[in-house]
Amino acid sequence: MGKSIAISQDLENIITNIAEVARILWKLGWAESNAGNISVNVTEHIPEDIKELNKFPSKEIDKSYPGLSGFSFFITGAGTRMRDLAKEPSGNACILRLAEKSNRYHILWGGRSDLSVEPTSEIHSHLSIHRFLLQKKAPQKVIIHAHPEELIALTHVHEYKQESKLNRLLRSMNPAVKIIIQKGVGLVPYRVPGSDELAQATVKAIEKHDVVLWEKHGCLAIGTDVLEAFDRVDILNKAARIFFMCKNAGLDPEGLSAAQLDKVERLSWSKK
Ligand SMILES: [Zn+2]
Repeated sequence: MGKSIAISQDLENIITNIAEVARILWKLGWAESNAGNISVNVTEHIPEDIKELNKFPSKEIDKSYPGLSGFSFFITGAGTRMRDLAKEPSGNACILRLAEKSNRYHILWGGRSDLSVEPTSEIHSHLSIHRFLLQKKAPQKVIIHAHPEELIALTHVHEYKQESKLNRLLRSMNPAVKIIIQKGVGLVPYRVPGSDELAQATVKAIEKHDVVLWEKHGCLAIGTDVLEAFDRVDILNKAARIFFMCKNAGLDPEGLSAAQLDKVERLSWSKK
């Protein structure tokens, strides 16, 4: 077995919350098979100087990430299942630190007995977004990607491929969307999963939104913690689900009117 760093109580708590969200994603049907991935910038919880860093397993990425050297990320493993992560985080995720040569990383923690877990195939989207968030000094440290069914279904409907129409619909189906998803949802046109093109298009969308939909694929959200990121997706999907429930019953939902939405106050909601 390779080397592994000690985990602080704070980091342990973060991992516990990740496992909880992984369990919920699976139960909701938003993380079928090996779908879905989560990453967290955990640099502040990792010692700056790690003795014998070179003895930790090291691997190469097919792209360089200048600016991320020395930063550490918890990241779910490629091909791993959320339902397994919920039970055994260390066997289905890893904490990696980008090396000085930023197309390499060391695995500091996680993996199976031989520390063989490699980061998600969506690593480019995750690292590109973390780099953007760090450059912006943004408070968000968490990225989650999942496959919420009703939101994905909406991205298959021609009418809602316009961001403005999509946002109007989601706000009108659930007042919490207006309160919690204040920047609205971004829509990234279909790109090959795992590709750098998808990563670049997502970073562009994240510049303006905290949640983006990947057309005909899934959803990606950022948050200060994993529960906040999950809640955002949950609130949005509830809006989409209510829309489809009405449609499935053969009814056309009225939706909240502009006047009703105008009266929605953040304060009143947060007190509930
Ligand atoms: Zn996906």
